[in-house]
Amino acid sequence: MSPSPEHTFDVAIIGAGPAGMTAAIYCSRGRLSTVVLERGIAGGQMALTELIENFPGFPDGISGFELADRMKRQAQQFGAEILEITAVSTIRPEADATYTVVTDQENVRARTLLLVPGVEARKSGIPGEAEFIGRGVSWCATCDGALYKGKQVAVIGGGDSAIEEGLFLAKFADAVHVIHRRDELRAARITQERAFANPKMRFIWDSVPLRILGENAVTGVEYQNVKTQELATLPVNGVFLYIGQLPNTGFLQGFVDLDPNGYILTNELLCTSACGVFAAGDAHTTAIKQIAWAIGEGALAAIQMEKYLDSLECATPAPWPVEQPAQAGGKDQRPGKANKTSQLNTDSTT
Ligand code: NAP
Repeated sequence: MSPSPEHTFDVAIIGAGPAGMTAAIYCSRGRLSTVVLERGIAGGQMALTELIENFPGFPDGISGFELADRMKRQAQQFGAEILEITAVSTIRPEADATYTVVTDQENVRARTLLLVPGVEARKSGIPGEAEFIGRGVSWCATCDGALYKGKQVAVIGGGDSAIEEGLFLAKFADAVHVIHRRDELRAARITQERAFANPKMRFIWDSVPLRILGENAVTGVEYQNVKTQELATLPVNGVFLYIGQLPNTGFLQGFVDLDPNGYILTNELLCTSACGVFAAGDAHTTAIKQIAWAIGEGALAAIQMEKYLDSLECATPAPWPVEQPAQAGGKDQRPGKANKTSQLNTDSTT
């Protein structure tokens, strides 16, 4: 896709995960000119998931990659354009109440924006982690699991990602050693039950990794029991780390309000602190990180963007501390300035 420099889209969606793609389907089907800025492959974290079992309509499960591809085709079918980029460097509010999204490919101008940049894996920072990337250290079992056929791997973490990905690795590896800092998993019960029933899954409780060992490739991981302080070394060929996620919001610093952890602050209608700019998905202050939830947010955001384009009014009662406006009840329609004191618009739209 190559829009002319003068072209202004109704909607630009920054991110191609489930929330972004749902919004793209709704907006393009609603005859709004829509562009999705996609970094890497469509689907974000979802696309890296081997099997999704908790998304309605797929009783046998569906691969994250296929679900992402279907969403993308559905959005394109209604006219959404997809622009493949490597990064957004900045977003510039323009004097005519539009925004210019500056990317490494081309600049995209739009009347309203949806920020859905998603999250990335949190790094542990332990010695050996950075050194052995691609040589035994990984954050993607779906991508790298097949390399560990007949081998031993360690999985760090006890959440849904660690245990689901560990179970996937157990299809290839001889043994998957889960190193978890507590004596109880955080993952969903059904996932825990499967893990405990799988003879290839082993658990090292109350322990944290200290160092990833190796010369040319990973040969082991040194860990410590946090209760006894005892040190031990586990010989493994691969280490997969799933110790949480961080929002991809560095480029939004100074543009919209973020919480102290970098998540985009929104109200319940997904308005950010900037007028006409909405956020959804895992990178905003969401209640839960689930595909079904992200999809609902994508639909909500699309409807809010459509309303905004009709009125160009910012109804953004912020749930975070705000400055008092100069004039009570006044509407500030400058881009980048939401009218944080106006009443919440709770009209239902279908
Ligand atoms: P998460 O839920 O935050 O779990 C991170 C895990 O890493 C926790 O077990 C945590 O231990 C551990 N941990 C954190 N910091 C650590 C450190 N410095 N050293 C060692 N261990 C550390 O992250 P996630 O599993 O990536 O999941 C993220 C979100 O996506 C969650 O809301 C999850 O429910 C959701 N998700 C859902 C599905 C699904 O529905 N199928 C699949 C994947 C992810 P503690 O338990 O002690 O805190």
